[in-house]
Amino acid sequence: MKAAIFHGPHQPLTIENVDIDEPQDHEVLVRTAASGVCHSDLHFVEGLYPHPAPAILGHEAAGVVEKVGRAVTYLKPGDHVISCPSVFCGYCDECMSGHPNRCSNRKATQRGKDDKPRLSMNGKPVAQFADLSTYAEKMLLHENALVKITDKIPLDRAALIGCGVTTGVGAVLNTAKIEPGSTVAVFGCGGVGLSAIQGAKIAGARMIIAVDQFESKLAMAKRFGATHTVDASNTDPVEAIRKIASPGSDEGSDLLSAMTASQGVDYAFEAVGVKKLAEQCFEAIKPGGTATIIGMIPVGQKVELDGPKFLTERKIQGTMMGGNRFRIDMPRYIDYYLQGRLNLDDMISKRMRLEDVNEAFRAMKAGEVARSVLMFN
Ligand SMILES: [Zn+2]
Ligand SMILES: [Zn+2]
Repeated sequence: MKAAIFHGPHQPLTIENVDIDEPQDHEVLVRTAASGVCHSDLHFVEGLYPHPAPAILGHEAAGVVEKVGRAVTYLKPGDHVISCPSVFCGYCDECMSGHPNRCSNRKATQRGKDDKPRLSMNGKPVAQFADLSTYAEKMLLHENALVKITDKIPLDRAALIGCGVTTGVGAVLNTAKIEPGSTVAVFGCGGVGLSAIQGAKIAGARMIIAVDQFESKLAMAKRFGATHTVDASNTDPVEAIRKIASPGSDEGSDLLSAMTASQGVDYAFEAVGVKKLAEQCFEAIKPGGTATIIGMIPVGQKVELDGPKFLTERKIQGTMMGGNRFRIDMPRYIDYYLQGRLNLDDMISKRMRLEDVNEAFRAMKAGEVARSVLMFN
């Protein structure tokens, strides 16, 4: 099968012929229909996160089941599926306590070191990114990497749910659990940020402030439910957010009133993975507010926060793929889509071929797209 091969940081992916094995007991062979190009892949291409090479990147896809291993009863050939990086074993402490996205026993879903590799090229193993590798015509996965979905949703739209939508919407609904009437700020309006904006809208936020440095993305953010926008290329976003969320409020002259001044939003989300934005995200919340860091901050970087702010019960937290239990969440997001409450149609800025994957990375870096989707036949 054809696949896009990652050879190491700062090198373009190349299209190669790769061998894919037959499904073993709990494995499923899926014909890829569409794969979104998510920012996380770019982190590896840019060397900000390490990954062995050669590998097939890609982790946001939907497709059709072609073949199942003999122990698989959940799926059958012809089923439409979405793949998810949150592959779960189903019986470790994390899985059993309702957090399969934090599964501590992923080994149970992978092939052993001495087994034949799922993917290989010229007889040598090819690493499987996120246990998925979606930049390929086919995927060989553990069944717990898949959710069965209705065939009412087009597979290119479904693919987006595989990572970006689940990460952004889930950060709002599952991780932050915002209340109706909340005020929200979202830093970064790419695929994940736009999904967080949509999640905030679904949850009934009364104010959604979108922050980005590209005007085109802010225009998009409005279309997806932002009530206000802040252009971070020419304004201090923290000050702008405080002005919008609490107009007329005064910091006061002494330290205590400055600390407790009700300035800022109830919830802020960082959807890029940049240290400075994570810090601004925390600065932008009011006393008692919560900052949620969704983006992948590069390995080795520390986030610095203003210590006294903790005295006012401000909180900061991480989220892993939107705190998903994806077999429950993804069908719900599909319902929202089919009801017209989650806009996936406009999230796809470009449809491309597998061969265009490097161009898709370039367009993403340039801020030209919400999402590019690679389409297979
Ligand atoms: Zn992703
Ligand atoms: Zn587990």
